[in-house]
Amino acid sequence: MARHTSFQVGGPAEAFVTPATVSDLSMLISGLNAREIPYRILGGGTNLIVRDNGIPGVVIRLQQCCRGISIESSNSAQTALTAMSGENLQKLCVFAMRRGFQGLNFALGIPGTVGGAIRMNAGTALGWISDVLESVVVLDPSGRMNTIPRADLRVAYRSMAFPDTCNAPGNVIISGRFVLKAGDACAVKSEARKILQQRRHRQPTTLPSAGCIFKNPPTGKTAGELIDLAGLKGYKVGGAETSLKHANFIVNTGRATASDILMIMAQVRRIVYEKFQVSLEPEVIIEGE
Ligand SMILES: Cc1cc2nc3c(=O)[nH]c(=O)nc-3n(C[C@H](O)[C@H](O)[C@H](O)COP(=O)(O)OP(=O)(O)OC[C@H]3O[C@@H](n4cnc5c(N)ncnc54)[C@H](O)[C@@H]3O)c2cc1C
Repeated sequence: MARHTSFQVGGPAEAFVTPATVSDLSMLISGLNAREIPYRILGGGTNLIVRDNGIPGVVIRLQQCCRGISIESSNSAQTALTAMSGENLQKLCVFAMRRGFQGLNFALGIPGTVGGAIRMNAGTALGWISDVLESVVVLDPSGRMNTIPRADLRVAYRSMAFPDTCNAPGNVIISGRFVLKAGDACAVKSEARKILQQRRHRQPTTLPSAGCIFKNPPTGKTAGELIDLAGLKGYKVGGAETSLKHANFIVNTGRATASDILMIMAQVRRIVYEKFQVSLEPEVIIEGE
């Protein structure tokens, strides 16, 4: 899985499948479900730490079967777009930006897929993906497609859950429908440039990572500020270290293992709790054994 995650760590998946079509995907998950074989959906692997012994069961990659961005409707005020879940989020942002559609610039520079962004409710201080999402199409483990309106989704900071009626684990996001406001293409492009510049300035973008490791606590200082104040910037275990540029990033400086990263996370949580009585919650998803 080191080849399929932005952290570039993690042992093998027991099986790794890239279905060619949505109907292949549907047959695959209903078959796995009927045989009680566990599976996980992989987006871009940019918010994942896979443990060193790998992942039991089947990892399913959607980049082939769920591709495409289309304009559904457009008028002088707004445009509705559908983006398939395996599509690159940056491609969607650039598609919108070039046409002067407003509302997705906040996501410029967030790596990964549209499906991963919806599942994680990806965002920044400037906005969340749920702000522009109108509905999602979800494939349930029995192979049924459901369209879920945004109002029925349980949206929170870096998470999104389906309503109880279709909240079976193993649901796969197939596509998202987004509504964006009409804007001035030059203004949207100039805002985009500033957002990307700020990201490059603030975040370590040249070393492998999974973005912010911990969620910001609901009140008070950010996770990065707490880690910095605890004196843990540049804290190293093996080939992993908390970034000197942004303390809430752990970077892989070359030969990190998942265990190195998990060890840093445990130490950071312990020391930050001892110093500030704040329990940092992981933002990254940890998978495997
Ligand atoms: C340099 C860097 C900067 C980052 N900056 C930000 C940022 O500013 N804001 C932010 O929010 N995040 C940020 N991230 C984290 C990450 O990019 C986002 O969370 C991203 O949206 C994850 O998408 P992904 O496709 O890579 O998902 P993955 O990491 O592949 O998966 C994440 C979770 O979503 C599930 N999932 C993925 N696709 C589907 C699907 N189609 N159906 C059902 N479940 C699915 C997976 O099973 C997994 O549980 C950053 C990461 C990096 C490396």
